[in-house]
Amino acid sequence: MDSDIDTLLKLQELDLEIDNLRKKIETIPKEINHLEKEKSDLILKFDELKNQLNHLEASKREKELDIQTYEDKILKIQSSLERVKTNEEYKALLREKAHAEEAIMELEDEILNIMEEIEKLKEDEIKLKTRIEKEENEITKKIEEKKKELSEAEERLKKLLKEREDFITTVRPPILSKYEMIRKKRNGKAVVIVDTDTCTGCFMIIPPKVYSDLVKSNKLLTCPHCGRFLLHKGN
Ligand SMILES: [Zn+2]
Repeated sequence: MDSDIDTLLKLQELDLEIDNLRKKIETIPKEINHLEKEKSDLILKFDELKNQLNHLEASKREKELDIQTYEDKILKIQSSLERVKTNEEYKALLREKAHAEEAIMELEDEILNIMEEIEKLKEDEIKLKTRIEKEENEITKKIEEKKKELSEAEERLKKLLKEREDFITTVRPPILSKYEMIRKKRNGKAVVIVDTDTCTGCFMIIPPKVYSDLVKSNKLLTCPHCGRFLLHKGN
């Protein structure tokens, strides 16, 4: 039959794996969320770019229409110029024409700027599209892997919990409850190795009497400082 310390050590192995699995099961959904956000951010960025492009195209069309309006106006002025009677009228029409021509030039400059911007954004659009095609697949693959990892962890946890349930029936009840208490209090390990004469749980030196008892006997001993069960390397 196994000694108490061996039994506790096995129980601890089970518990540490159970702890790890629980942590994993808690973390993976967060990682999946994070990946999904990464993916939707990329698509959002692309939509924003598309909107910006649409907006610029609309503004370009609007300015082209304005130019058309000014050009129509100039044509009208030109035909009016042929029919004016007074010098004053003539001058006024010329001023109006010059004003329209100036406005057209300004609009043409603005259109050129918009076209440059559109060209730049279209390059960005192509780059982003390539990036999305590549990264979207990668992210989707990663999400699938994470989901698989999660369901495997859940399966394994179920199995280990059942194993633990069976195993604790082999642990003497007072030892089990002490083990549970220490584990809860110390948040993790309840059984630690003594390295030379130091407890590797709290890193304090074990009193010589406890240490020699530990080396000589198979008795279940605890660290007088932190209360953890002690396991001598040579035992
Ligand atoms: Zn200790």
